[in-house]
Amino acid sequence: MMIDWEKIDTVLLDMDGTLLDLNFDNHFWHEFVPLKYAEQHNISVESAKMQLRPQFKSMEGKLEWYCLDYWSEALNLNITELKVEISGLIAILPHVTEFLEKLQQSSQKVILVTNAHRDSLDLKMEKTCLQQFFHHIISSHDIGFPKENQQFWNQLQRQQSFDKNTTVLIDDSLAVLNSAQLFGIKHLISVSKPDTQQPIRTILNYPAIEDFRELMVGL
Ligand SMILES: [Mg+2]
Repeated sequence: MMIDWEKIDTVLLDMDGTLLDLNFDNHFWHEFVPLKYAEQHNISVESAKMQLRPQFKSMEGKLEWYCLDYWSEALNLNITELKVEISGLIAILPHVTEFLEKLQQSSQKVILVTNAHRDSLDLKMEKTCLQQFFHHIISSHDIGFPKENQQFWNQLQRQQSFDKNTTVLIDDSLAVLNSAQLFGIKHLISVSKPDTQQPIRTILNYPAIEDFRELMVGL
């Protein structure tokens, strides 16, 4: 059994790559944005990708990376509108809904904790109708720090007063899991298949699920 549910009272869940297929975000940033950028600058998609790569790289792990306003301005593209354009690709990962339904019937407090910008979060909730399953939905943009930063966890704990020893975080980002571990959250689970279109990842430092059936044992 991966989690002893008897010892857990708070479940923190990441959104993209944990509950939702990361294929949407990967396709959006790696294919769709370069395509639109290429059209706008009258260059090839390949050169657009080459120009964008270092810009994306330099913002990794920063709050701006997740900020649609930042990218709309930096790239002179309406990122929110572009997301709506391909929102048909937004999809819930396998067995997530069953897991959330089961959690809803339990006594666990369930909180969505995401680095996604509010516009992106709203679009995804509108497309998936998952908001009903959460007691609280927290965007790191409301807190002012991304999950990679200790300040995020300090402030989240002040807001939600969870016990680090009886809390589990499920998140596909190793940088986020490392940050939560440093803060002291005791139960940490990774996701080995955040993108259904990519091969399974080998995760060494944390127990990892391929899908949520593995966490439903004992719940
Ligand atoms: Mg994620």
